[in-house]
Amino acid sequence: MMINKSELKKYLEEYSLAVSDKSIDMLDAFSEMLIEKNKSVNLTAIKDANGVLIKHLLDSLLVFKFADIPKGASIIDVGCGAGFPSLPMLIARQDLDITFLDSTAKKLDFISSVLDTLKLNGSVCHGRAEELSKENVSRETFDFAVARAVANLSSLSELTLPFVKIGGYFIAMKGKEGEAELEQAKVAIKALGGKTESVNSFTLPDGSERTVIAIKKISQTPTKYPRSSSAILKKPLN
Ligand code: SAH
Repeated sequence: MMINKSELKKYLEEYSLAVSDKSIDMLDAFSEMLIEKNKSVNLTAIKDANGVLIKHLLDSLLVFKFADIPKGASIIDVGCGAGFPSLPMLIARQDLDITFLDSTAKKLDFISSVLDTLKLNGSVCHGRAEELSKENVSRETFDFAVARAVANLSSLSELTLPFVKIGGYFIAMKGKEGEAELEQAKVAIKALGGKTESVNSFTLPDGSERTVIAIKKISQTPTKYPRSSSAILKKPLN
């Protein structure tokens, strides 16, 4: 056992999140693979089991508390890194159709090995969000986009909203800076066809503050978006 499973269970109960014992065992196996691999390949700054439990597993599963995700929904995790929030989400909800997108191949190699070992189905996609969302096969095709720790909300909306179907959602997993970023991102969200639907603040058991922002896609993203990576990062649509 790598993580304290009874502690994880206790927190999930406090959150009113139902996660099966089998999924808890799989979250433990995933954590073990992450901590082990992270010794030789830089996958995440969090290296200890308790940090993984709270800042990775619990934080990722928080999505379910603030977003109602229907059975079989398609979800793209933009800049998933070693799989956050999407891999804990898939382990807890194996009905979900998840695409793991990142521009760093070694992180996706790790995700592929976890999917293989745990016999999970998911699609691994190597590339840059601003290039892939221009392709017809992925543009406005997902029920949900999720992202954590990739860019400020304005830039991030340009990286994620083009993937989301009209009527779908972008769920941004932010820290305590979430509300201030939302103020700055209002123009961008509107220009990209989004509308902020809910903002929820939450404190994790270690005291870290989290903000989960749900943005609904209400109209088509103009084809001029996303712009080039440098424009997205240097000139956010404020
Ligand atoms: N979401 C993970 C990883 C955050 S680190 C977590 O919360 O732990 C940010 C990740 O985003 C990195 O792995 C980086 O490779 C990826 N990334 C940054 N910009 C990207 C882009 N434009 N397209 C695809 N991936 C991107």
